[in-house]
Amino acid sequence: MTKELFLEDSYLTSCEAEITAIDGDKVTLDQTVFYPAGGGQETDTGVLIQNGQEITVVKVKKENGEIFHYVSEPDKLSLGPVTAKLDWDRRQNLMKHHTLLHVIAAVFNQEHDSLCTGNQIYPDKARIDLTGITELSQEEIDALVSKANDELERNHEVSVRTLPREEAENISGVIKTIVNLIPKAVKEIRLVKIGDIDEQACGGTHVKQTGAVGKFVLDKTKNKGKGVTRLEVRTI
Ligand SMILES: [Zn+2]
Repeated sequence: MTKELFLEDSYLTSCEAEITAIDGDKVTLDQTVFYPAGGGQETDTGVLIQNGQEITVVKVKKENGEIFHYVSEPDKLSLGPVTAKLDWDRRQNLMKHHTLLHVIAAVFNQEHDSLCTGNQIYPDKARIDLTGITELSQEEIDALVSKANDELERNHEVSVRTLPREEAENISGVIKTIVNLIPKAVKEIRLVKIGDIDEQACGGTHVKQTGAVGKFVLDKTKNKGKGVTRLEVRTI
């Protein structure tokens, strides 16, 4: 199993590792800073550096619990020591948009009991599907966007803790709902807390303070049917 260093420190931009397997264009490391696409967050990219050569990592995926780094030129790599280095601009932008979605979900939940039913995070934009707001006017939505921008500006600290499943299930409210959706086989739940406004089960990467997100705009509001509204947002 690859050690997932990004879960402990999302600000690690590179690490020393060992290549433990190469299968076609799929490379396995003993530990990695690369976040594999998942939970709505797009893949990290970057390079693997070995013998002075930089080999591009085009995508990273988790398949049956194993993390695979898909590389452009696998023939240039061999088993043994390697440096794994992220495209840090891309990752930072993913972390900003990811943290932004937590703050938006928190504000809409607080005001309209909205639950998040889906999301997708890119470096330059993100979208979130929320319940409970199909009846709202554009002015009302805009007021919530403004409130979410205010919360970002309050510069809440973003912290992470891991709890045994039973403990996480006993926390009341939204967390419990989300934890119940996580497969029963998962015994440890990672909770991401944003100041005093939100705590969610999440395995993604986030900035340390909401101020790092900056401000955001709402580009589009779309009714997805079945009481779900999609918001398309972008940091500025
Ligand atoms: Zn998250």
